[in-house]
Amino acid sequence: MDSRRDFLQKLGLSSIVLPFVPLSGWAESLIEPETYDGPVLRVAIMGLGGYGSRVADAMQSCVKAKLVGVISGTPSKIKNWQDKYAIPEKNCYNYQNFDQIKDNPDIDAVYVITPNALHHDQVIRVAKAGKHVICEKPMAISPKEGQEMIDACKKANVKLLVGYRMHFEPKTLEVIRMRNAGEFGKVMFFQGQCGFKIGDPTQWRLNKQLAGGGSMMDIGIYAINGSRYMIGEEPMWVTAQETKTNPQIFKEGVDETIQFQMGFPGGAVASYLSSYNINYLDRFFLSGEKGFAEMQPSTGYGPIKGRTHKGELTQPHTTHQTVQMEEMAGIILEGKEPIVPVNGEEGLKDLKIIEAIYLAAKTGKKIPLKL
Ligand code: NAD
Repeated sequence: MDSRRDFLQKLGLSSIVLPFVPLSGWAESLIEPETYDGPVLRVAIMGLGGYGSRVADAMQSCVKAKLVGVISGTPSKIKNWQDKYAIPEKNCYNYQNFDQIKDNPDIDAVYVITPNALHHDQVIRVAKAGKHVICEKPMAISPKEGQEMIDACKKANVKLLVGYRMHFEPKTLEVIRMRNAGEFGKVMFFQGQCGFKIGDPTQWRLNKQLAGGGSMMDIGIYAINGSRYMIGEEPMWVTAQETKTNPQIFKEGVDETIQFQMGFPGGAVASYLSSYNINYLDRFFLSGEKGFAEMQPSTGYGPIKGRTHKGELTQPHTTHQTVQMEEMAGIILEGKEPIVPVNGEEGLKDLKIIEAIYLAAKTGKKIPLKL
């Protein structure tokens, strides 16, 4: 098998007919390894859990980004990762000593993939160590924290990016392209449904101290963020209603199910469902005066499936985290501008909306938004 085919297979593009691959837009980052001699972003992952492992595996197919270090509180995990990814001892840290990363010239950036409430302090420590930061969503658990993280990264002159992998997903980008080209006409309505039945009641996602909330922080954020990139505007107001059927599992401050609505300046209205107690919720619907887009699944690891008034979306599936890390390396090292932002300001907007949704659900009032 030739190396190009091998490389595309690793990215999950094996089913496409290679000579006809349209290498434009999203695919710019899919560089053949042997032809690349540009800069490489050397990344340490902090938090070697479920998602950290997924990112590490996906990074093995990256050309512009390389996993070179780890930060973990569990020595056995560090050892496993060292063996699996050939990570040298000098690039391994724990949560007590990772400030010393500032003296390590072989690490450019740290990807923070820990429970939500830890992001704030960890990102600020990484920034103070002079390294670029990629932080998982939600970037923090309050707008105040998010702003402090942005300020710390600015002060330290390092980049802060948030792990919004859908911002690089080919079918999603095609819908955004169609909207920008006016193919849907005036956008009138968006519907976003994101949720699943959460399992183990002892997990950190159900602990307010570590999660900062419930389904909204974890999965509802995809619907919020999705409506912003699908409609291409910032919402002006929000209303919300919460339903809690099991207060033993979903304790005070941990939302189980929230329905909410937002209004956008161009006249579009949007309706959403975020839940930790309903399965198979992964759907976006956009309706304009001249057309529609429907994605289901819309934000899972893929393949994303979708159709518009013109027919099926046929852009090939890519491993989201591989493309994300290639693109983020381009942003950090080459000043590349993504089609949809992934910076701290983008993450902060979602936190402001989540705060307003919680307030709307609590008070029953329509809450104005200033993003
Ligand atoms: P996880 O529980 O699988 O992993 C979390 C890791 O953090 C574990 O290795 C754990 O040991 C470590 N950790 C460090 N300090 C901890 C503490 N005090 N308490 C608990 N764990 C601690 O969780 P995950 O699914 O990997 O989620 C981590 C982050 O990634 C979250 O912010 C989540 O929202 C985000 N995430 C993003 C996506 C995505 O598609 N972008 C998907 C899943 C998770």
